Amino acid sequence: MSLIVQKYGGSSVKDAERVMNVANRIVDAYKAGNNVVVAVSAQGDTTDDLIEKAKEINPNASKREMDVLLSTGEQISIALLAMAIEKLGYPVISLTGWQVGIKTDTHYGGARIHKVDTERIYSELDKKKIVIVAGFQGINKYDDITTLGRGGSDTSAVALAAALHADICEIYTDVDGVYTADPRIVKNAKKLDDISYDEMLELASLGANVLHNRSVEMAKKYNVKLAVKSSLNKVEGTYVKEVSQVEKMLVRGVTRDNDVARIALCDVDDTPGKAFQIFSILAKHNIGVDLIIQSIGKERTKDISFTVTEGDLEQALKLLEQHNDVICAKDIKWTKDVSKVSIVGAGMVNNAGVAASMFEALYNAQINIHMIATSEIKISVLVDRKDAERAVVAIHDKFELG
Ligand code: ADP
Ligand code: ASP
Ligand code: MG
Repeated sequence: MSLIVQKYGGSSVKDAERVMNVANRIVDAYKAGNNVVVAVSAQGDTTDDLIEKAKEINPNASKREMDVLLSTGEQISIALLAMAIEKLGYPVISLTGWQVGIKTDTHYGGARIHKVDTERIYSELDKKKIVIVAGFQGINKYDDITTLGRGGSDTSAVALAAALHADICEIYTDVDGVYTADPRIVKNAKKLDDISYDEMLELASLGANVLHNRSVEMAKKYNVKLAVKSSLNKVEGTYVKEVSQVEKMLVRGVTRDNDVARIALCDVDDTPGKAFQIFSILAKHNIGVDLIIQSIGKERTKDISFTVTEGDLEQALKLLEQHNDVICAKDIKWTKDVSKVSIVGAGMVNNAGVAASMFEALYNAQINIHMIATSEIKISVLVDRKDAERAVVAIHDKFELG
C-alpha cells in the first residue's frame, strides 16, 4: 500500500464543479488502495481578494493579522473538498495547519516550516480516512497562525510528503507539467518529462511560479519524489528528481520575473567600504539584493545599481535615505519598470557560447540589457518590463526549445 500526497492549487478548486472534479480524483487514488493525504490551496483568486479586503480597512495592517486573514482561504477549501468527498460516500476529514501541527518560525507572511507532526494524520489514516490539509499555513511558537508566502501550498505538500515518507508528492495544477517557458507567454513551449531539483529550483526562484521555490528546496533536501500534473486531464506530467550528468541539457527553460525593482545610487564617493556600507544596511533589515552593477569610477565617484523585490523597495529606499550621511550618494533613483529574464540549464557551465547566444537573441529583437548576472546554472538579464515577454519568446526561439 502506498502513501500519496497530492496538492491541488487554487485554479483546480475555483468553483463547485472543480471541487467535485478534484474530489473524484482523490477518491480514485483512494479506491486504488492508497493512503491519501491532500494539501489544498484557497479557491481561485480568494487570497488576492482577501488582500484587497484588508487594504480597504488598513493598508498597513500587521503581518500577524494578515496571516490570520489569509489563512481563512485555505480553511474554506478544505471544508468544501471534504464535503464533496463525503457526498461521494468516502471517509474523509479536513484539518487546518494547527490541527496537524505544521510548526513554523515566526516570520509572518513568509514563514519556514520547522517540523510537521505526523501523529494526527497517521491516526486518521489508520481509521481509513482521506486526510485533507490546509496548505499555505502553519503555527509558530506563540501558537499564532503563520503563512508560508505566496504560492506556499506547494511547500505544505512537500513538507507533508517528507514527514510522512510518502511514496510520491503529486502537484496538480492548471498546466500539464513544467514547460520550457510559461505556456501563457510562449505558445510553442514544450513540456519536460523530467527536470533536476537544481534546475527546477532556479526556474522557480527566477519566476516560474508553477512550483514554489521552497517546495523544490525541501524536495531536494528530503529526497521527495515530485510530479507536476494537470488536475484537468490524465496526461503524464513532469518529474522533478536527481537527473544524471549525461542527461544535462544546455538550456532547460526560460523564465521572467516581474517582481523586481532597480535602485541606482548615483555619484557615490569612489572610496573603499561603500559597497559594504550599502549592502550591510540592507542585509541587517533582511532585504535581499540580486543583480548588482558598479560603474568604473570617474572623477572620484561611481554609480552602484542593484535590484530588490518590489515588496522590499519602499523600505530599502527609506533605509538608504536615512543612511545617506554615510553612503553619500548625490542622487538615489529607482524604477519598477524592469523585469528579470533568465535561462536555466545545468549543462551551460562549460559552454562559453550560451551567454553570447542569449545576448544575440536580445539584440536581434532590439531589446536593451540593463544588467547581467551569471552562475553555473543560469544567466539573468534585466530588461524594460515592456520588453520582457518578447525577450522570453526570442530567447526560447534562439535555443530552439519549442
Ligand atoms: P496553482 O494555482 O495550481 O498553484 P499557479 O498559478 O501557481 O497554479 O502555477 C501554474 C502556472 O504557472 C501556470 O498556469 C503557468 O502559467 C505558470 N508557469 C510559469 N512558468 C511555467 C513553466 N515553466 N511551466 C509551466 N507553467 C509555468
Ligand atoms: N493561496 C495562497 C496563494 O494564493 C497559497 C497557494 O495558492 O499556494 O498564494
Ligand atoms: Mg501555485
